[in-house]
Amino acid sequence: MTDAVNDVKTVLRAEHLAKTYDEGAGRVEVLQDVSLSVQAHEMVAIVGASGSGKSTLLHVLGLLDQPDEGKLWVAGESANGLGERKRSQLRNRALGFVYQFHHLLPEFSALDNVAMPLIVRRMGRAQAREQAHGILEQVGLGNRATHFPGQLSGGERQRVALARALVTQPACVLADEPTGNLDRHTADAMFDLLRSINQTLGTAFVIVTHDPALAALAHRQLHMQAGRLAEG
Ligand code: ADP
Ligand code: MG
Repeated sequence: MTDAVNDVKTVLRAEHLAKTYDEGAGRVEVLQDVSLSVQAHEMVAIVGASGSGKSTLLHVLGLLDQPDEGKLWVAGESANGLGERKRSQLRNRALGFVYQFHHLLPEFSALDNVAMPLIVRRMGRAQAREQAHGILEQVGLGNRATHFPGQLSGGERQRVALARALVTQPACVLADEPTGNLDRHTADAMFDLLRSINQTLGTAFVIVTHDPALAALAHRQLHMQAGRLAEG
């Protein structure tokens, strides 16, 4: 990997993030004084009760949502005060996303789903497909390239979704409950795959999970409780 974002040592750095939602009845402080940094090659798990603010934090770290307070750097670049266009450029260049539900396009093959982010970046179709095929092989699905999402198992779909997140060679992948919809055995296999990708490609991961057994496999565990983040 020669992309400059992959040479950066700290892929994410957040300082004193705060975010509040104004509900009809009152204010919900969803993030309170959240600071963290994630190094290149690191795998960090975030665990915490439902409603504790995990998805909100991931959205803020992923430049999909703005904090009310605090500062953020992504792949060594300041995200503070960036306009919407620069924010999406930084997001597309440096980050990948995996969600609980795969969000694959049903009318496209696995290969074309994975190639899509490259085609959106105006890479030629043949080259995009070639790179997509390489990543599908990395996630163990080289032999499923022509299958459509409806012809794949739940675990296979999540692996295609992971390949799609990786195809742009992001410095960091943000995953929100990537195994939340899978049975125990398939979830374990998915987590093994995340670890092996982390080791072979050096991609950093921030993974929100309900599953303490999976969280224990990450290099570091962070606990979210009522909008506050604690290590350990
Ligand atoms: P988690 O992912 O840990 O379950 P979330 O980040 O989704 O938690 O939500 C944290 C809190 O913020 C919850 O109380 C939720 O209701 C509230 N919240 C999230 N998004 C919004 C929103 N767009 N408007 C108002 N409240 C929200
Ligand atoms: Mg959530």
